[in-house]
Amino acid sequence: MLSPGSSSLVNTKDQVHSRIIPGMMNLDLSLPNALKYRSRSQQAGTISESWIEREMYCPSCPSNGLHRLPRGTRVVDFKCDRCEEQYQIKSTSKPVCNRVTDSEYYTMMKAIRSDSSPNLMLLHYSNESWRIRNLLLIPRHLIVSSVIKKRKPLRPGARREGWTGCNILLTNIPISGRIFAVRDSVAREPGAVRMEWEGLRFIGGLESQSRRWLVDVLRCIQSMDRERFTLQEVYTRFEEELGVLHPHNRNVRPKIRQQLQVLRDKGFVTFVGRGIYERTGRQTRSD
Ligand SMILES: [Zn+2]
Repeated sequence: MLSPGSSSLVNTKDQVHSRIIPGMMNLDLSLPNALKYRSRSQQAGTISESWIEREMYCPSCPSNGLHRLPRGTRVVDFKCDRCEEQYQIKSTSKPVCNRVTDSEYYTMMKAIRSDSSPNLMLLHYSNESWRIRNLLLIPRHLIVSSVIKKRKPLRPGARREGWTGCNILLTNIPISGRIFAVRDSVAREPGAVRMEWEGLRFIGGLESQSRRWLVDVLRCIQSMDRERFTLQEVYTRFEEELGVLHPHNRNVRPKIRQQLQVLRDKGFVTFVGRGIYERTGRQTRSD
């Protein structure tokens, strides 16, 4: 009889992907493969995609690999064959800061409304050591309209005159929704990454308006510098801002209270009493 540790008990897929054992993820980009491409943006795109294909697992399910889609597939680069989640990769040699440039604005907003926008993988690499420095994952449920900022249309005379792009404002995404798979050149344990992803899954089950409210309120309370806060403080600091983000809703305060209740039920905050709340440790893992 085979012992539990025997390789014969490990299926082929597990053997192939044994690299994802914590600390085993190889953060090196394979540069030579990319050198045949001329432009640096082509190089970056190619080596990033090769790395994701070689090393990355699906954060949304137990699958140990992602399937690269044919080039030209609209805004989606990878798909998980097991849970069917889709991922768009953006890679840069500069640290990912407050925002990332995304695709055409109206297409993006339509995708958000129809719940068909992909998850994001933001990959930051060093173009000196050719190693991954950070890999930030953003579940698609967190990419709501307040996260999208319209850019100026391209000027008259431009090759694509009138084309309107957009930026994704990372600062408008709650801290919990910015999940690091690799941080400061260290790969995190996949189990921890998946747990954080899982903790946000309920947001995808909310209808569009509720989702927006929840993401906006979660972001607001996670931006506060103290873990303990009062309901009055949330009103004072964020009522106006939330009113601007939700111009058709005149009941901002009840909406805030409603979101805090949901966030309490989901373990993001606890209710201390007398209008006092406290954030749990949940949101600070990726901070
Ligand atoms: Zn999956």
